[in-house]
Amino acid sequence: MFAGPLDESIIKRARSAGLLDLTLYQLRDWTHDRHKTVDDRPFGGGPGMLLKPEPIFAAVESLARENTRVILLSPSGRKFDQSIAHELAQQEHLLFLTGHYEGFDERIRESLADDELSIGDYVLTNGALPAMVVIDAVARLLPGVLGDNASAVEESFSHGLLEYPQYTRPAEFRGMKVPDVLVSGNHAEIASWRLEQAKLRTKARRPDLI
Ligand code: SAM
Repeated sequence: MFAGPLDESIIKRARSAGLLDLTLYQLRDWTHDRHKTVDDRPFGGGPGMLLKPEPIFAAVESLARENTRVILLSPSGRKFDQSIAHELAQQEHLLFLTGHYEGFDERIRESLADDELSIGDYVLTNGALPAMVVIDAVARLLPGVLGDNASAVEESFSHGLLEYPQYTRPAEFRGMKVPDVLVSGNHAEIASWRLEQAKLRTKARRPDLI
């Protein structure tokens, strides 16, 4: 699942430029039985299978360094947002544990995870997409990854507000005109218009952010 999103566009360029080092690991490489078993039935009964502790403990113990932050993806985690993305972008080494089936044996959660993140209040089939969402959001905050580092400073959530409306050429399209202030060349007025618009938009659409 990871091939594609992590091999395209900005993330691909960041990896080739050595700004981001990503490695995928196969949990079955840390199993010892003939079938390379990574899951088993839940004690107490119930549907589905759970990821077993042994391969995940062995994997984390062999991959974690002194400065590694182990992040378990789970719908029960704290909800991922832009401020967590900034927090993670400061870390040197992140190790993501992506669940499958019904999820993880609780001992993995308790003993291995430094953090547990959810990407939203819905349940996906596995943790690959959530891990990619987090990786993408964090990677674009790393120095040099975006063509213009200012992009990550001026965008939605960076000041606790949604982004102001943006326009490009033509200045008039099908009778819809770009606001005069944006073509005025007056940078102070543009900045104050943008701040005002960002506040209005946030208040209308996401009052919870204010
Ligand atoms: N039984 C689990 C529950 O009720 O919370 C759901 C397991 S889900 C089908 C399988 C895996 O997908 C999870 O272990 C987790 O790694 C990942 N996953 C699914 N939804 C997620 C979300 N919203 N955020 C983060 N990870 C998620």
